[in-house]
Amino acid sequence: MQSQLKLYNTLSGEKETFKPILEGNVGMYVCGPTVYSDVHLGNCRTFISFDLIYRYLMHLGFKVRYVRNITDAGHLENDADEGEDKISKKARLEAIEPMEIVQRYSVGFHQVMEKFNALPPSIEPTATGHISEQIQIVQALLDNGAAYISNGSVYFDVLKYNDSEEYGILSKRKIEDLISGTRDLDGQHEKRNPLDFALWKKASPYHIMRWPSPWSDGFPGWHLECTAMSSKYLGETFDIHGGGMDLKFPHHECEIAQATAFSGHKPVNYWMHTNMLTLNGKRMSKSTGNTLLPEELFSGETVLLEKGFHPMVARFFMMQAHYRSVLDFSSDALAASEKGFHKLMNGSKELKELKLSPNSSLSIQGFIDSFYTALNDDLNTPVLIAHLFEVVSFINKVKEGAEQISAEDRELLSESMNAMIFDVLGLTFIDEQDHSKLDAAMNIILELRKNARETKDWNTSDLIRDKLNEAGITVKDNKEGSTWSVN
Ligand code: AMP
Ligand code: ZN
Repeated sequence: MQSQLKLYNTLSGEKETFKPILEGNVGMYVCGPTVYSDVHLGNCRTFISFDLIYRYLMHLGFKVRYVRNITDAGHLENDADEGEDKISKKARLEAIEPMEIVQRYSVGFHQVMEKFNALPPSIEPTATGHISEQIQIVQALLDNGAAYISNGSVYFDVLKYNDSEEYGILSKRKIEDLISGTRDLDGQHEKRNPLDFALWKKASPYHIMRWPSPWSDGFPGWHLECTAMSSKYLGETFDIHGGGMDLKFPHHECEIAQATAFSGHKPVNYWMHTNMLTLNGKRMSKSTGNTLLPEELFSGETVLLEKGFHPMVARFFMMQAHYRSVLDFSSDALAASEKGFHKLMNGSKELKELKLSPNSSLSIQGFIDSFYTALNDDLNTPVLIAHLFEVVSFINKVKEGAEQISAEDRELLSESMNAMIFDVLGLTFIDEQDHSKLDAAMNIILELRKNARETKDWNTSDLIRDKLNEAGITVKDNKEGSTWSVN
């Protein structure tokens, strides 16, 4: 099964049969968030897409090392080589430490990912935790002549690299077009060529996030961080590198150039890029303010929505589009996904309760094969979901007596359907999640009632019990305390 997986490789522009460097093992690196503000739903789409890829690789039996970094320094405004560090700027505006900003938004990011049932990566390195590794690479690039020092900063010499290697192979850009397209920006005078990018930047006196280096007190370039962290944990050449499409250029193009100049070989075999989530037809983006936050989606507290949607409905909505297609967010589309989600989840429940026959009227293996054909075709989740709905129609027909299923086939189908819905698509039943929330809320209510009883506040204690009873929850008092149950 592992050998049939095809992935679209941005580098070749084609779907290729996936062949890992070490059989049965996969190394995957995904550019993580820059933690200077809440992640928006667009960012979430990219990370959820890679969660799907991670899940499917594991489902196929690969041993996966999934590295997704946290960018906590060196990412400057406008993704450029000049300007303020995004994190320092936020810290300055709020008059707090940059690391408080990093902590707040890293925690927030993890909480959101958990709500979307995205698995944590195997390693989540931070840029600030790998400064010495970055300094080592800069030194090596200086030693082999691929980089040069200018006014305490170190730049990568793109034209020199382009003499033997192709700069632009990933983003399919021509160096001549890139040169003529570059604007005259501040700081460019330090560079031999405007296309050169910073590996190390000398910090200005007011730049607070700084580290000592042989060249200046400064900070690493954003592109270099990913090369340092990916090569440290996955090796100089690894299987998959991912990120949103907008990172192809300059970020990933620069990663290829510096890593190739450093190690002498291409760093990545398969480059995977996710397409954008749009809102009103325009890319969701922090800088333009055209965003929706996950919390706004869940609560419905936004002019864009009439009601909130459960994270699992949002995840299902994203899975209904292929990861390389643009997905436009709208209230109507979410409402349609909500219906589809419930239909699918009910179908999977009803499968377990079907009346059995001695034989099946259809080939169950045919359904199962169709799931894998869809996923092996560059993770075609919309086609997978269409096949899952065919199974739901079949289940309904069995219920009506128009089709039959045998015990053995039901077992087979149930196992495969569950693997697709829960393990690969990463969905969960909503009511189970809600039950754990109810459990948490009831613990709080019963704690308050216990306090009331301890102070002999019988009115409050009885009021809580009676109101809960009206809401369909029975509270029973005993020697150990109180228990509750749903009527
Ligand atoms: P950032 O924190 O800005 O570096 O972005 C984190 C990730 O989210 C990157 O991989 C981006 O490519 C991705 N991203 C940003 N905007 C969108 C969007 N509208 N849709 C999908 N992915 C996005
Ligand atoms: Zn990166």
